[in-house]
Amino acid sequence: MTLIFATHNANKYKEVKAQMPPGIDLLYLADITQEPPVAETATTLQGNAEIKMLALAQSAGQNCFADDTGLEVAALNGAPGVYSARYAGPEAQDQDNVQKLLNALEGQPNRKAQFRTVIALYWNGETHFFEGVCRGTIIETTRGTGGFGYDPVFLPEGHTQTFAEMDLIQKAQISHRGIAMKKLIDWLSARDAQ
Ligand code: IMP
Repeated sequence: MTLIFATHNANKYKEVKAQMPPGIDLLYLADITQEPPVAETATTLQGNAEIKMLALAQSAGQNCFADDTGLEVAALNGAPGVYSARYAGPEAQDQDNVQKLLNALEGQPNRKAQFRTVIALYWNGETHFFEGVCRGTIIETTRGTGGFGYDPVFLPEGHTQTFAEMDLIQKAQISHRGIAMKKLIDWLSARDAQ
């Protein structure tokens, strides 16, 4: 079975591909289109995941899914949340967002945060949603060179390595996206969809 992941992010694709059972052939947008990313105009993770998924379902006419992820920081009242990609501005790079976050938390004793992912699956004409949460803390300086986004400053609860210090499989076993993907994979397996 072929499933298309509606993302341009090669890091996300690698993570999810590492988790896929052998019966599912996973493609992503770089494999099938030169189109630019669609605008993420919703105010919720679920809304943005659905926008990305529907755009691909309409253009490709195939079963597919999209994710949207936010970093929710307790001391910032849940910010940057759905705006995590643009936290330091519309053209922000990962390191700009990380730096803005570290600045915002300077001197702040409450470093609690969580990543939340919502996946929207288009499956034979129907839409289904899957959610995953990973709790942790924001450390004070970056650690590790793997991963992407806020990974170098996110220390998942119960672990001594940041996401950026883990390999793809370790991260996928405990991460927000990994948890949401496992729910999706289990849902497909229950339907014998492979
Ligand atoms: P989006 O889901 O691609 O819209 O991501 C929103 C923001 O969160 C971007 O800045 C990403 O780099 C960041 N992000 C998404 N997933 C992860 C992750 O697994 N680890 C760290 N940062 C992430």
